[in-house]
Amino acid sequence: MQNQQNFDVVVLGGGPGGYPAAIKASQSGKSVALIDPNDLGGTCLNRGCIPSKILIANAEFYKRIQEAEKFGVKIGNNLSFDYAVMAERKDKIVAKKRKGLEGLIRANPIVHIQGMGKFTSPHTLKVVGKDNVILEAKKVIIATGSEPRNMSAFPFDHVKILDSTSLLALKSLPKSLVIVGGGVIGCEFASLYNTLGVEVTIVEMLNSILPMESQAVISHLSKNFLNRGIKILTQAAVKGIVTNDDGVIVTLAEGETISASMALVAVGRTLNTSNIGLDAAGVIVEKNGIIAVNDKMETNVPSIYAVGDISSTFWLAHVATRQGLVAGENAVGGNAHMSYAAVPSVIFTDPEIGSVGLSLEAAKEKGYNAVVGAFPFAALAKSEAINETDGFAQIVIDKDTGQILGAQVVGFEASSLIAEMVVAITNELTVESITESIHAHPTIAEAWLEAALQADGTPLHLPPK
Ligand SMILES: Cc1cc2nc3c(=O)[nH]c(=O)nc-3n(C[C@H](O)[C@H](O)[C@H](O)COP(=O)(O)OP(=O)(O)OC[C@H]3O[C@@H](n4cnc5c(N)ncnc54)[C@H](O)[C@@H]3O)c2cc1C
Repeated sequence: MQNQQNFDVVVLGGGPGGYPAAIKASQSGKSVALIDPNDLGGTCLNRGCIPSKILIANAEFYKRIQEAEKFGVKIGNNLSFDYAVMAERKDKIVAKKRKGLEGLIRANPIVHIQGMGKFTSPHTLKVVGKDNVILEAKKVIIATGSEPRNMSAFPFDHVKILDSTSLLALKSLPKSLVIVGGGVIGCEFASLYNTLGVEVTIVEMLNSILPMESQAVISHLSKNFLNRGIKILTQAAVKGIVTNDDGVIVTLAEGETISASMALVAVGRTLNTSNIGLDAAGVIVEKNGIIAVNDKMETNVPSIYAVGDISSTFWLAHVATRQGLVAGENAVGGNAHMSYAAVPSVIFTDPEIGSVGLSLEAAKEKGYNAVVGAFPFAALAKSEAINETDGFAQIVIDKDTGQILGAQVVGFEASSLIAEMVVAITNELTVESITESIHAHPTIAEAWLEAALQADGTPLHLPPK
């Protein structure tokens, strides 16, 4: 007879949705198991957010050094980089973070069960893998995440037709890269590879790259990319990709072809909800693979919760983590609720992009009397000091009430700058809360103060409208 173990809470999947759920549940003193056949940390730590941002940091450092002479620092003419070392740095940092996470899971204490889990009933899961065990659980939290979407017309071979995982695993750079899909992942890799001297072409089916961003952001980044030599083809559908000795030939629907050393296909993600026994558990799955949940992250089955990529359309690690904490608390008798009113979206291109809440266009569509106040980084002393003048910050407000509805920032450290606006929107603050907050000088965060003054009609370091 197979080994059977009982737990109060079982979490299926150890990514940024699953492991915070396990920690939260365990903090109440309940017995918790975390099932994952792979390294803990999921897509984010092992083949997503973290490895990509380490490579981006390497490239940014290389770019900064190229500007050394502007700062009066002499570096000579022998500047070069070794991509294999950059890749090794990525692997070392990821391994260190993974080790830290494994220690955290043991310390809580949570039992890590290594294998693929599958429901055999609402309260029972069969695990197959390194550990082979039947688990009985009072509550189950599903957090099985997603995988790169494989296109049947041009499937991954992971040698020349790559997904984000195989691209991140490369130890040397191709001469040229075609990126199919101008979404967040496509644009981040385009920016990274261009900085490292790879010829990059983005092929996007829709009207623009980053179609979910505000018009001001799309225009700024598109112009920046074109100036840097990144080719962007929009309204262009890829029909097929063939490989040859030199690399790949990408054929567009109109018949045009593009040759490159490799292709990255970044056209979305497939949710891991088809092989986990949801039928046996009685959990309803929507057409596109998403598990329907309420704001307590409960599925239609009272004892089963779902969090992360499989439960929403955000596909962001920080959303998965917040959902995990909500589910973890509720699974042990809490009453936490999930809100999506102020979800920051950050894109680690060069320049970075941060946005939260509504764009001007979306606010107008919703019927607000919306106005925008914007301030260019080029007008900030700090931006000049650090030679990072490309970009702007803008705040969208409701003119009738002054409430901050949204904010977008493009430029150096936009990923961190957006946090101020997340707090403002989460707490439904008005534009006065920014104009009356003293912003340290000289900093790039002053762009928020100036944008707020502009939105308020009382600009300080911009001429009156
Ligand atoms: C290249 C790239 C860059 C990204 N960059 C960012 C970024 O900068 N910021 C950001 O917020 N997001 C980023 N993301 C998205 C982010 O990684 C995901 O939104 C996030 O990892 C989702 O978390 P999750 O817990 O839902 O799933 P995942 O992280 O996918 O984890 C799911 C886990 O479940 C396990 N699993 C699957 N099936 C089973 C099963 N049957 N039994 C047991 N375990 C199972 C898997 O092994 C995996 O470990 C990026 C993604 C990619 C691909």
